[in-house]
Amino acid sequence: MRVAIFGTGYVGLVTGTCLAEVGHDVVCVDIDQAKVDGLGRGIIPIYEPGLEPMVKANHAAGRLAFTTDAAAGIAHGQVVFIAVGTPPDEDGSADLQYVLAVARTIGRHLTQPMVVVNKSTVPVGTADKVRAAIAEALAARGEEITFDVVSNPEFLKEGDAVADCMRPDRIVIGASNPEAVAVLRRLYAPFNRNRDRVVEMDVRSAELTKYAANAMLATKISFMNEIANIAERVGADIEQVRQGIGSDPRIGWHFIYPGAGYGGSCFPKDVQALARTASQYGHQPHLLDAVEAVNNAQKGHLFALIQRHYDRGEDEGVRGKTFAVWGLAFKPNTDDMRAAPSRRLLEQLWEGGAIARVYDPEAMNEARRIFGEREDLVFCDSAYEALDGADALVVVTEWKQFRSPDFERLRKALGDAVVFDGRNIYEPQEIEAAGLAYYGIGRGRSL
Ligand code: NAD
Repeated sequence: MRVAIFGTGYVGLVTGTCLAEVGHDVVCVDIDQAKVDGLGRGIIPIYEPGLEPMVKANHAAGRLAFTTDAAAGIAHGQVVFIAVGTPPDEDGSADLQYVLAVARTIGRHLTQPMVVVNKSTVPVGTADKVRAAIAEALAARGEEITFDVVSNPEFLKEGDAVADCMRPDRIVIGASNPEAVAVLRRLYAPFNRNRDRVVEMDVRSAELTKYAANAMLATKISFMNEIANIAERVGADIEQVRQGIGSDPRIGWHFIYPGAGYGGSCFPKDVQALARTASQYGHQPHLLDAVEAVNNAQKGHLFALIQRHYDRGEDEGVRGKTFAVWGLAFKPNTDDMRAAPSRRLLEQLWEGGAIARVYDPEAMNEARRIFGEREDLVFCDSAYEALDGADALVVVTEWKQFRSPDFERLRKALGDAVVFDGRNIYEPQEIEAAGLAYYGIGRGRSL
């Protein structure tokens, strides 16, 4: 099938590439000329495992093209996807300006009946707004062309996006017209062979499903962080508690890791946007508000541990101290630093007068773009280089390569011989046996 995709970010680029990989003919449209030019030359703007070779192969095979020409994209597609950003507005609600701009563009250039598929995460009722924006633009041209607006929320995980897209858990299709559902079933058939993964529903339920999924996952994380904070105070170890509850299949092992707070482009904004929708419809979202409040507090927790350590000694807090920071991305296997806990930590370290020597396997360019050059920030080429001249180590992202460091080398390198483990990836006994002080999250023994 011929497909056009508006938005060539994490969702649009991965979706377009996977659709091309199974034989569809895909044109990706973006307003970012530099991104489009780069993609045409095989430069992938994001880090996503497995993506680069797939983009190059499908582009070379002529099944995946990139353009800024919206009219050409719309003329190409039998199906048009909207996969542009929906960042938080000032009040926390989803900013629909990009989605509605694409809708107007579609209305301005539509020449044939079309299935318009919204993949962006949008509040309930957005499909109606998209429909109205397209209809208005068509009416302004004096055209009457039939089109459907379908909600097809995306559940891929950054860091695993290609695998998620090629082997989805479920394909949610929210539509009011069975013919539009049939078109999408045909499009997704190559991903839907061994069992039927399509969950059909009405449009509003599909829009809410995406928020419900992310809010549930964020709730699990905030719940564990809450228990971790209790563990810290009562002298219990959250890691033992985690083992004790994860074995219950009703609870499960996923998403019960305490840490430095959730970040990324989705959980923070989606929890906020859902809470905002609830309030707009007259419901006070107590649980969602708490999930967000716990997370905001948790993002400051690592620094609180650091401060507590340094306030105890003869030092003047962290002033003049140098911290090696391992991990900047909001989670491993991505270069995405949107709402990453590392950003709060760095700001707090800098406010306290400390210097940060940072290393991340993939997010260094993104960090340079965000922070620019500053005297209290040193970009390092490796994890061990970050230790040079540092007083303490802070682990913020649990990249696999940080899991088994040479603790002896750490002790020799770190002036104050102390490790702050924001992801509980180390065994306290092992670190302490090497002569280092250890702080984890929710490990009462380190208080
Ligand atoms: P992104 O910011 O990485 O990419 C958005 C792209 O849209 C950018 O390249 C931008 O230039 C382009 N764009 C903006 N306006 C445009 C227009 N008028 N025409 C064409 N292109 C335009 O965003 P993302 O992370 O891919 O997220 C897209 C949507 O999918 C959001 O609603 C997000 O919540 C949702 N989502 C994201 C993820 C994720 O893991 N990133 C997962 C599921 C759902």
